[in-house]
Amino acid sequence: MLPGTLGPQDFTVPASTVRGRVAVSAMKRLVGLLAEGEGEVEATLGLSLDEAGRRTVSGHIKARLPLLCNRCLQRYDHLVDTAFRVVVVDTGAEADALPDELDSFISGGGAVRPEAVVEDELLLSLPVVARHDSESDCGPPTHSSGATREALGPLAGLKDRLNRRKQD
Ligand SMILES: [Zn+2]
Repeated sequence: MLPGTLGPQDFTVPASTVRGRVAVSAMKRLVGLLAEGEGEVEATLGLSLDEAGRRTVSGHIKARLPLLCNRCLQRYDHLVDTAFRVVVVDTGAEADALPDELDSFISGGGAVRPEAVVEDELLLSLPVVARHDSESDCGPPTHSSGATREALGPLAGLKDRLNRRKQD
């Protein structure tokens, strides 16, 4: 289990490691972007202080996130297997003041919720446009696609009749 929160005492030299699984359903910002809210994320977080005494989290997360392909509108799994390192800061202004090569996690002050760190990284891992890697992975369009709905809807019959009349 990941601890619920991390206080200043949890960031140590040498680093300490916490591990656990987080339910996707517990990550509200993420779950709204997924095709469904089931599944778990495996997280390993190394907690430390860097040479400047800043709290850092070096993590590795693994997940399989169900997304909806924008091309064929079918569900597919977006695999996440990624390592990251962030410096914990309290405010956006502190984040802006960090050297460019450092990524930040903005805690808002107070204790750090490891779940929120994991969620941020998962959000960053999402593609700008969700779709199967290759078009050949796409399934046939489902009934919810615009073109198919039109063909199946009440208008379809009317259009057929109109087309036929034009051809006559
Ligand atoms: Zn697809």
